[in-house]
Amino acid sequence: MSFESLGLRAELLSAIASQGYTTPTPIQSQAIPVVLEGCDLLAGAQTGTGKTAAFALPIVQMLSEHKPKKKRRNPRALVLVPTRELAAQVSGQMQNYGRRLSLRSTMIYGGVNIRAQIERLHRGVDIVVATPGRLLDHVERRTISLAEIEFLVLDEADRMLDLGFIDDILQIAEYLPSQRQNLLFSATYSKSIKQLADELLDQPRRIEVARRNIAADAVTQVVYTVERSRKREMLSHLIRKGDWHQVLVFARTRYGADKLTDELLFDGITTSALHSNKSQSLRTRTLAEFKQGEFRVLVATDVAARGLDIERLPYVINYDLPQVPEDYVHRIGRTGRAGEDGVAISLVCPAEQPRLLAIEALLEYAIPQQTIAEFPAIAVKRGVKAKPGKPARSKQKPAKPGLAKTKSQAKSPSKAKAKTPAKAKGKAPGKTTTGRSGQATTARPAPKLGRRLSRTKPSS
Ligand code: AMP
Repeated sequence: MSFESLGLRAELLSAIASQGYTTPTPIQSQAIPVVLEGCDLLAGAQTGTGKTAAFALPIVQMLSEHKPKKKRRNPRALVLVPTRELAAQVSGQMQNYGRRLSLRSTMIYGGVNIRAQIERLHRGVDIVVATPGRLLDHVERRTISLAEIEFLVLDEADRMLDLGFIDDILQIAEYLPSQRQNLLFSATYSKSIKQLADELLDQPRRIEVARRNIAADAVTQVVYTVERSRKREMLSHLIRKGDWHQVLVFARTRYGADKLTDELLFDGITTSALHSNKSQSLRTRTLAEFKQGEFRVLVATDVAARGLDIERLPYVINYDLPQVPEDYVHRIGRTGRAGEDGVAISLVCPAEQPRLLAIEALLEYAIPQQTIAEFPAIAVKRGVKAKPGKPARSKQKPAKPGLAKTKSQAKSPSKAKAKTPAKAKGKAPGKTTTGRSGQATTARPAPKLGRRLSRTKPSS
């Protein structure tokens, strides 16, 4: 399928060509016709699938078809997003497409002075990309009118619910006209997403693009088991030995991100932290500098990293495993983007094994393990039931250094029908092979969870 066959205008086709896109991604080829037909849409798609263009292109096209003549116009499309970073990313795409058709777009988010936003809204805009809290602030001050909204997009709706925006979203909906087209994008379909869709969408068409495997197809995933106390040493070692530049490291808490940043700086590795305790202007500057390669390592928390779009990011490292298994998929989606290869490495200490199991249960395959000579594999307790959302605890003492395999790897896992990630396909479970970096790799069976995974609020 080509972009031409989707019925997009010449101006948009040239914008797409200048971005270097040649063929639509699955979400784009499925969603664009649905939106152009005027239907509501409930789409299962996560960051990295090309979902932004999937809604931005048809909305811009339809808005351009009947433009109001007045200069100071009220917005006709509203995109709600969970974070400022995602707002910036979506707004950038809207601006890129919209300006070719004389449409104006702006973004609204908290943590910055409201005056500039008020002035921009006052001049008139067609598209608003907003985080819910600040948008409500504008609605209550009457600095924005939502009475002419024709398109409502809920982007990363699952994350908005995680962040507690449900009441804000429902309140915003009360200011919208009842006649409108609604598009909801979510990486997961939980009960609360279904309730939100029932509340806001009208007989939506449903689309789901490959969620679980999208990351695995383009990303080589590796687990290193390591004592918690040696994680930082291992991280420095990997970055230095591999001569890696542009490494995105995930830490679970803001405090942890700052501490690790200081430690890496101490090790002589240029590093900055990105989390929600930093001012918006500092976050924007830090991200721009990282993109330009001015420092090597960006240590981020999940919330701050949401929506980051860094071209061809080669390495993502989970310094701490996330509490919510789905966040693992979001994190590693920061690499291997849009057809590029990437490497996602997780440094897993014994106490994090339940979290690893929960992630592997979600992925439905075991992530290959590697060892580095300088950091002998440590024994970890396998086969325990994961308790997603709760900090992991393991009473098991690590075995003496020098053990080549974990206990469960040593047993032959012949019972398990493990799916393996794309890069590990064809490797028998338990067999040791050579990984991308030439180190020993052990493919393991997929773990089974005794109960359904539940979501919890992220830590920062
Ligand atoms: P998104 O899921 O919207 O965050 O997009 C993820 C990445 O894919 C971004 O870097 C986009 O620029 C890129 N992208 C979106 N659509 C395409 C396409 N059709 N071909 C190649 N890259 C794309």
